[in-house]
Amino acid sequence: MAGMRAFSSARDVHRALRDRGQQVGLATVYRHLHVLAERGDVDTVHTPSGESRYRLRASSATFHLTCRVCGLAVAVDGTEVWDWAERVAAEASFTLIRCAVELTGLCPAHSRDSGPARRRAGRPPPNRTQ
Ligand SMILES: [Zn+2]
Repeated sequence: MAGMRAFSSARDVHRALRDRGQQVGLATVYRHLHVLAERGDVDTVHTPSGESRYRLRASSATFHLTCRVCGLAVAVDGTEVWDWAERVAAEASFTLIRCAVELTGLCPAHSRDSGPARRRAGRPPPNRTQ
């Protein structure tokens, strides 16, 4: 269920899996979501119409900050990024949001090696897309 960040119904999950070519039945999706909810891996909300909607738990909204010199990777909380992604996606009526963020920089050891003028070296222009 990677990428299941916004609250999605079992039918949304089922449709997304089918769109990716996975032959899986709706009953199986319901069963797996139930297990994930019991394990605490997904949060569940119930809509006024009685439908259950699921989302991967926010605490797993973790990104990695990687040193460009030595490759040291530090896990950082990405909750604010996800909150933003879900808000703008909801405004566009999108579901099953996936969000990839690449965060690079210089670790403390390599920041000491370079002067302040180099700290922002390699920073991409604001409109760069990948
Ligand atoms: Zn480093």
